[in-house]
Amino acid sequence: MFPSARYSLASKRIDILKPKKQDGLGSGSVMSNTANDPDPARRNNLALLLSMVHHRKVLSRVQLAKQTGLNRSTISTLIAQLVALDLVHETAPSGATQVGRPSPDVHPSESIAALTINPEIDAITIGLVSLGGNVIKKIRYETERIPSAQEAVSIAAAVIAGMRSELDANYRIVGVGIAVPGLVTPADGVVQHAPHLGWRNEPVAGMLAASTGYPTQAANDASLGAEAESIFGAGAELRNLIYLNGGASGIGGGIIADGKLLSGISGYAGELGHTFVRTDGSPCYCGARGCLETEVQQSRLLELLGLNGGELGQLEEALIAAERPDAQAEVERQLGYLSIALRNAVNIFNPGVILLDGFLSVLYAAAPAVLDSLLSSQSMSEPAGQVRVLRATLGSDLMLIGAAELAFAPLLMDPVGFLNSLAKG
Ligand SMILES: [Zn+2]
Repeated sequence: MFPSARYSLASKRIDILKPKKQDGLGSGSVMSNTANDPDPARRNNLALLLSMVHHRKVLSRVQLAKQTGLNRSTISTLIAQLVALDLVHETAPSGATQVGRPSPDVHPSESIAALTINPEIDAITIGLVSLGGNVIKKIRYETERIPSAQEAVSIAAAVIAGMRSELDANYRIVGVGIAVPGLVTPADGVVQHAPHLGWRNEPVAGMLAASTGYPTQAANDASLGAEAESIFGAGAELRNLIYLNGGASGIGGGIIADGKLLSGISGYAGELGHTFVRTDGSPCYCGARGCLETEVQQSRLLELLGLNGGELGQLEEALIAAERPDAQAEVERQLGYLSIALRNAVNIFNPGVILLDGFLSVLYAAAPAVLDSLLSSQSMSEPAGQVRVLRATLGSDLMLIGAAELAFAPLLMDPVGFLNSLAKG
C-alpha cells in the first residue's frame, strides 16, 4: 500500500528490480552505466523512489522498502544510484533506539532546484525552489501597471540573469515553471486567456525558454496550487480533494480525483470560479451570469471593513472582530453562494476534503459553522457525511512550490534520462 496518491501511477508500473551484475555502482561510473538504461523496471523504480523522497522530504531506507514493496538490497542499490547522481543524500538515522541494523535517512538533494515565475496584475514573483519543495529564494518585482506577457518575460529573464552566477555555482537548475492566473495549455505552455492580465494567445513558456535557455513549462495557477497542497500541504496523502483559491482577481480551483489532477482535454478543468450559483447574478467576464466569482468577492469584504487591500491576516482579524450586522450578513451571504458551488462539487466528485485558500479560507474562518451546516444540509447526505472543509496551509509559498512541481516533473518521471538530456542541452 502506498502512502500517497502521488505514487499510484508509478506503482502500477512497478516490477521488482533484478540488479544486474554489470551495474557498476562504483563512484563516478553510475551516470555512464545507466545512461540509456534499457531496463524499464529500474528506470521506474528510480523515478518512484526519487518522487517519494522529494514529496516526503525525508524517508528512511526501511520506510522506502516498506512502502514500495521492494526488498532492502534493491533499495540500497537504487539509492546508491540516486546518491551518485547527486539527486539524494543520506544521513545517519534519526531514531537512535532502532533494533537491528540502523537504516539511513534519505533526503532530496538541496542543490537540485527549479526556478518559478508567477505573474500577477501588480507584480512578478520569481522563486528558487529546491527538490523537497523548499523555497530558497523569493523575489517579488512590483510593476506599476499590469505587465504585458513580453514585459513579464523580460522582467523574469532579467532577474534570472542577475542570479545566474549564484545559480551556476550552487545549483543544478532543472527548469522553470510558470504559474499563470488564466487558461493555459500545459502541453505547449501557451496562455490562451488570462483575463485579469489581459493576455491572449501568449506563448510565455517558449518566450522565457528562448530568453533563459532553461526548459520551461506553464500551467494554471490554481491547478498548480491544488497539486502543491495535495503533495506538501493540508491535502498531503489525500486522493480525492477539491481545492479552491480566492484572490483579488477571482476564484480558481483544482480537482484531485483518484490521486490525479483532473485536467480535461486541454488542461482547463477545475474552473470552479465559474460555477453557476445565482440566477439573477451579475454578469461575469466569461460571458455568463451569476458565476461563483462574481458573487463571492474579496473586494466587497475589504470595502465593508474599510480595508485597503493588505494582508489576509489583517482581513481575518477584522472579520472575526467585526460585530457589525452588515459585515456578518455579507459573510453569510458569500458563504451561502460558496456552499452552492461546493455542494455541486461534493455531489459530483465525492471528495474527502475541500481545501479553501486565500480569502475563501478567511471567509470560512469567520463563520465555519455556517458553511459546514449549509454544506451538510444541501449536499446529498452520503457524500456530505464524508467531506471535511479545511484551510490550506502553504500560504504565500504555494505558487512557488506548485510551479516548481511543473519543472521537476520530467526529472521525477525519469531521473537518468532527464539528467542526460539536460547534460546534452
Ligand atoms: Zn464566469
